[in-house]
Amino acid sequence: MLLTNSLGMRKEPFTPRDGHVGIYVCGVTPYDTTHAGHAFTYISFDVLIRFLRYRGVRVTYVQNVTDIDDDILRKAKQVGLTWLELGRQETARFRADMDALNWIAPDHYPLATEEIPEIVRIATGLIEKGFAYVKNGSVYYEVRKDPTFGELAGLGYDEALAIANERGNYPDDPNKRDPLDFVLWQAAQPGEPTWSSPWGEGRPGWHIECSAMSTRYLGATVDIHGGGSDLIFPHHSCETAQTERYTGVKPFVRCWMHSAMVQLDGVKMSKSLGNLVMARDVLARAPADAMRLYLSNHHYRQAWDWREPEFNQARAWAGAIAAAANGPDGAAGRAELDAGPYRSRFLNALDDDLRTPDAVAALRDLATAVGAARPTHDVTAARETLRDLGGRILGLTFRE
Ligand SMILES: [Zn+2]
Repeated sequence: MLLTNSLGMRKEPFTPRDGHVGIYVCGVTPYDTTHAGHAFTYISFDVLIRFLRYRGVRVTYVQNVTDIDDDILRKAKQVGLTWLELGRQETARFRADMDALNWIAPDHYPLATEEIPEIVRIATGLIEKGFAYVKNGSVYYEVRKDPTFGELAGLGYDEALAIANERGNYPDDPNKRDPLDFVLWQAAQPGEPTWSSPWGEGRPGWHIECSAMSTRYLGATVDIHGGGSDLIFPHHSCETAQTERYTGVKPFVRCWMHSAMVQLDGVKMSKSLGNLVMARDVLARAPADAMRLYLSNHHYRQAWDWREPEFNQARAWAGAIAAAANGPDGAAGRAELDAGPYRSRFLNALDDDLRTPDAVAALRDLATAVGAARPTHDVTAARETLRDLGGRILGLTFRE
């Protein structure tokens, strides 16, 4: 199939290695989940994984949980829970929301805090190779030693620093040799949870968690690495740099896939604006198929707006598709409705950079054709095709 690789932003042929594909998708930081942006990302990858498996490819799917970071510590303090309680509670909520959306759960679902030995091993290796340094109990990756740093994002130094600063970087940290250097291990701060390391008590940096978990479960080269497009810089750029320098294997990732952002009626969704569309609120008033169809009606690379009238339209499609899938066999003994052309359209669309909106359109057209042909044709086989494609690949349940 063809997939757009974020490294170079070109559509490229993607082939499994020995019939197998290892996929790593950056998971949630467990607080304030699951909003429409999360749902869009994880359902887009769910469709990709379902499609690859449908085609007979073996897939190993890894998704992590960033169960310790600044946001969790801040939020836990606000709501009066420990970081561990908040993380467990929100991770369970996220998984319940995604189960309600009928996702296929990852094969491995590691927590950052359970991967400390591997994180320490990588940081140690980077220090030994001269790409990282220790200062006052913290360890930093030295970006100036790495001429390819930031290649994935295609940003110049100043631009990169400005974006990093918006996304959690501390440029004025006096321990750093360069403001863009990023932390692999941070020394203990008062009141924060800590783990032991060769550099003293502390906790891991964010980016190195994903290097540790991806290489542990998938090896030095990951076939497809994904996440939201806001992770391209700094997260995935830092992850690439440190992983390739640590393992000595390039490329770390064969195909980078990033899902676009979801807004609400033209405005960025954020907790502070109070305009988050939460999956559980949507699922309280509409079937999961409606939400899945609405999400899949947008290509993963294209930013889009959640709009209620459009959601209601998707809800009507879910009803029509379920009615076609669950309805009677049609006219017994008469000619069969040929679903072949719809099936080809559906599969060709997904082969071409996972064009899910065209797959949804093919499925809707097949549902319409099944409904229209019932009085005059045998629709048994066509209905099975509808259930096969819609159920196994788009993850529909056809509940009315
Ligand atoms: Zn990550």
